[in-house]
Amino acid sequence: MTGRVTVLTGGVGGAKLVLGLCHSMKAEDVTAIVNTGDDFTHHGLAISPDIDTLLYTLAGKANAAQGWGREGESWTFMQALRSLNGEDWFALGDGDLALHVLRTQRLGEGEALSSIVADFASAWRIAAKILPMSNDPVATRVQSDEGELEFQQYFVKRRCEPAVRAIRFEGAAFAKAAPGVIEALSDERSRAILIAPSNPFLSIDPILAIPSIRRALTETTVPVVAVSPLVGGAAVKGPTAKLMRELGLEVSATAVARHYGELLDGVLIDERDPPACLDVPNARADTLMNTIDDRKRVAHAALGLADSLRG
Ligand code: GDP
Repeated sequence: MTGRVTVLTGGVGGAKLVLGLCHSMKAEDVTAIVNTGDDFTHHGLAISPDIDTLLYTLAGKANAAQGWGREGESWTFMQALRSLNGEDWFALGDGDLALHVLRTQRLGEGEALSSIVADFASAWRIAAKILPMSNDPVATRVQSDEGELEFQQYFVKRRCEPAVRAIRFEGAAFAKAAPGVIEALSDERSRAILIAPSNPFLSIDPILAIPSIRRALTETTVPVVAVSPLVGGAAVKGPTAKLMRELGLEVSATAVARHYGELLDGVLIDERDPPACLDVPNARADTLMNTIDDRKRVAHAALGLADSLRG
């Protein structure tokens, strides 16, 4: 067995675990497969929110207090945009713009998202591999009581207020996994495959909707362990709990584990959660990740559960 660990992740919740792993083991052995269903074009710029959250977090540039974007950001662009009556519902900081401008330019020249992201990561000396789930466009669409909404319209512009009836991932059925993704998931010598404590419906499901990724997860003999995104029976941040209720699910780690179903070999649940009724092996830990020590603790607990599943 090698020390390699592959993580399926969305943005903020997932990046906390990935950072914890990078501080607990050789960061070169960590591969993050990142949701791109949230990607969109705004003011002509190609924006990849979850990938950028990973880049900022692993490069030590994330604004931890705000929970998104860069630390020490300035907002001259947004002020100028507002003065011209430009649409301002999606905040683009001056430093953040650099990523979007470069990405847009290079995508326009025909480069693949995965190679652009690899260059950004190497410029910021990030040792872990950050892989977009796909270089093909996949767009999360939310069917709500206000009709079908593009993901960022729902998430940022409407602040997750519309009630969700269903979610679909346009393009996923035909999307190919990005280079390196299937290789990471099919490396039978890996220590573990983790599903980060990200939103199962908005951040992880788009990744699982790519047929070759789901197949690789179904076929692997490497332990697959999910970390529940619920702490004390509630979401730490964001719409996970609201969404579960709207989709007719109980807000519990049991429902999260059932949602992943047969893909899972184990689930790590927060110690504050009510007793779970699970038919998959599980462990409990304090999974709230505020400090770097918290992140390392959760990484250790998830890897410990994966190791115990090898028998
Ligand atoms: P987004 O793509 O930026 O919305 O972020 P993710 O999908 O990766 O993460 C959102 C989820 O992370 C929410 O369901 C939160 O409950 C969960 N989350 C955030 N922080 C923590 C934490 O410290 N511990 C756990 N267990 N879950 C967390």
